Amino acid sequence: MLQLVNVGTKSLVDYATISGRGLMAEIQRLAAPLEGKRVLHLSATAFGGGVAEINYTLVPLMQSAGLQADWRIIHGQDEFFNVTKQIHNSLQGSPQGLTTEQEEIFHRYNALNAAEIDDADYDFIIVHDPQPAAVIDHFPDSRARWIWRCHIDLSAPNEDVLGFLLPAISRYDAAIFHRPEYVPAAEELREAAFIWPPAIDPLTPKNMALSPEDAAYIVDQFGIDVERPLLTQVSRFDPWKDPLGVIDAFRIVRERHPGIQLALVGSMAHDDPEGWEFYNQTVAYAGGDPDIFILSNLNNIGSVEVNAFQVHSAAVLQKSIREGFGLTVTEALWKNRPTVAGRVGGIPVQIQEGETGWLVDSVDECAAACLEILGDPDGAYRRGRRGKEYVRQHFLTPRLLRDWLALFNRLNGTDTGETQLVTVSAGTV
Ligand code: UDP
Repeated sequence: MLQLVNVGTKSLVDYATISGRGLMAEIQRLAAPLEGKRVLHLSATAFGGGVAEINYTLVPLMQSAGLQADWRIIHGQDEFFNVTKQIHNSLQGSPQGLTTEQEEIFHRYNALNAAEIDDADYDFIIVHDPQPAAVIDHFPDSRARWIWRCHIDLSAPNEDVLGFLLPAISRYDAAIFHRPEYVPAAEELREAAFIWPPAIDPLTPKNMALSPEDAAYIVDQFGIDVERPLLTQVSRFDPWKDPLGVIDAFRIVRERHPGIQLALVGSMAHDDPEGWEFYNQTVAYAGGDPDIFILSNLNNIGSVEVNAFQVHSAAVLQKSIREGFGLTVTEALWKNRPTVAGRVGGIPVQIQEGETGWLVDSVDECAAACLEILGDPDGAYRRGRRGKEYVRQHFLTPRLLRDWLALFNRLNGTDTGETQLVTVSAGTV
């Protein structure tokens, strides 16, 4: 059997005060017909990146709602994850296609993993992202309902690579995307597509309330001078997150604010063999600058530390060039932080330019936004407050759980039509 992730337990009642009674009642109503249903989440890693972040909360909350939810991790060696990383890059627009050998590696590992799954154990099987997407090929007569959850930006994909995956993706009973623009043109897929954004858990160590004093105490331990302002970007070491552009913007800001410091906080995901190479490039680009702090899980950066860096920063950056959704933006907004982020992927869904944060298209714009924030902390804080409210309304986990339960009911034939799901063709149904 594939490795089971220990997600611990969470209780839905703890979320009532944050999410409101209406949503909680809706969740209860949707959960009732699904009592005891068995759900499998399948993904490539339990560590690093947005999928892991979401599942550590979503899976125990599904359990708390009365379902039997498991999360299992597929097996793979570097040869497989090198291919899947390239698939990820190509789906986000890289022109490089796959060789026949790479295609064979992808299918071989999907077959190996499929052999370790018994679909009869589950009513719903949720496959996250492209890595295990072709496992479904090995279950032609499955009685389980299969759902593909895509977390990446598919708005301008390499068509060859998308075409390679489409036969598998089209087999799913439903496919979920963050945004309507991400849904591929293939008709059979569009009919099964649903749109909803991911969410963050406000009660995890990463997002729970942390006082400014506690945050300062924690970042101080990493060598940050807590008396001087700090800019932070939290993200995997990946070119799409543009840490080199962040360093360029920081250098421009420093011309006017010589005391400024920069923290690039980034964990290494297990399914990302390229990560180290790009980490080394980032370190080299920083050139030993004592005011640039490049930190990762190797320095013992965990959830509380990410929280502390976000809370303590004068501004949080997410200068991505491509972005599926950008949970780091959600996390920063939830902490009232002035947030500067690339106008890509799911970020404009979260930040209304001028209202709840700053959307930028270049290094210069990124630097200008940081200068504005440092020059007017009160105005910046007001935007941060509005950002938090927006996250409360749209991007917290109970809403995500509601969307999943509504879809399960629909696939289960127990949909009462009271909860709207967003589709591409018909708007809402
Ligand atoms: N993250 C983290 N430590 C790090 C880097 C990232 O905990 O050093 C978390 C981050 O807080 C966020 C998730 O990983 O919850 C990244 O999700 P996002 O949607 O921003 O990007 P992805 O990595 O999925 O492309």
